[in-house]
Amino acid sequence: MKEFKENILNKSFKSDLHMHTTASDGVLSPAELVDLAFKRGLDIISITDHDTVAGILPALEKARSLKTITLIPGIEINTDVPGAEVHMLGYFIDFNNKEFLNSLGELRDSRNVRARQMLEKLSSLGMKIEWEHLKRIAQDSPVGRPHVAQALVEAGYVHSSQEAFDKFIGRNCPAYIEHKKMTPLEVVRLIINVGGIPVLAHPDNISSLESLLPDLKAAGLMGMEVFYDSYSDSAIRRLLGLSLKYDLIPTGGSDYHGIKGHQETMVGDVKVPPESIRRLFKLAEKCNPILLSTYNLTL
Ligand code: AMP
Ligand code: ZN
Ligand code: FE
Ligand code: FE
Repeated sequence: MKEFKENILNKSFKSDLHMHTTASDGVLSPAELVDLAFKRGLDIISITDHDTVAGILPALEKARSLKTITLIPGIEINTDVPGAEVHMLGYFIDFNNKEFLNSLGELRDSRNVRARQMLEKLSSLGMKIEWEHLKRIAQDSPVGRPHVAQALVEAGYVHSSQEAFDKFIGRNCPAYIEHKKMTPLEVVRLIINVGGIPVLAHPDNISSLESLLPDLKAAGLMGMEVFYDSYSDSAIRRLLGLSLKYDLIPTGGSDYHGIKGHQETMVGDVKVPPESIRRLFKLAEKCNPILLSTYNLTL
């Protein structure tokens, strides 16, 4: 028995808590992505599509059929901070909650408005992309810049999706448009209201991070991505220090989209401390026990 207990306590989990599927702007379907994570030997994963939970049920079903992999229902929501990309992740969210689904619907609508404005900007720069072309690419998913980038590649205006971001649709580029978003504090509350654990995504690029954190913490922020994509050791050290200072669970993930021509970290290649996974599950037992039991989500 002692040995068994020690085994559980020392068990090392391989995880990736930040990935995108075709339900938003990723390339693999939810089932394909879960399968890839399984083949790469992961134990705990989360899909965190932008403004949609459409991929969660199919991913949960796939995870259940594979038996050894646990899927945490997740989301990623962009927030409104002038001049900065502040994205919030939510884990263990009640993805069936009606009010939550309505709020996500509004965010997706604002993405459509913004995408049309981006096409207008591109047109004024001499690059004509039809709305129907963009919708063929995005299909029912919330329209994101990676879809616009793909349309630019297909129309022959750029050679790669990365070139589209670098020249035209990256922040501070001539065809970049903001969409209507909620503030970070509103998004923290939205996630907490559906039993979720709010976690600040890829914060190293936020220049106002240190002035943002006290308010976010006061609103209920519970974690922060510290281990992310290609973050350097010094960035990780700095973020780890901030996560300790504000008592935030240091999480991580690859932010895998699977987009060709993008320099991306492969699923599972960012190492997340097993202790962080344990802390997330412990919090979820408090914040959303019903979700854990309904979908049999355990470590
Ligand atoms: P959106 O939510 O529509 O503004 O698009 C955000 C997505 O675009 C991110 O999740 C990334 O996949 C991608 N992205 C944003 N900035 C860049 C960049 N500079 N280079 C490549 N991809 C980017
Ligand atoms: Zn994305
Ligand atoms: Fe993001
Ligand atoms: Fe992401």
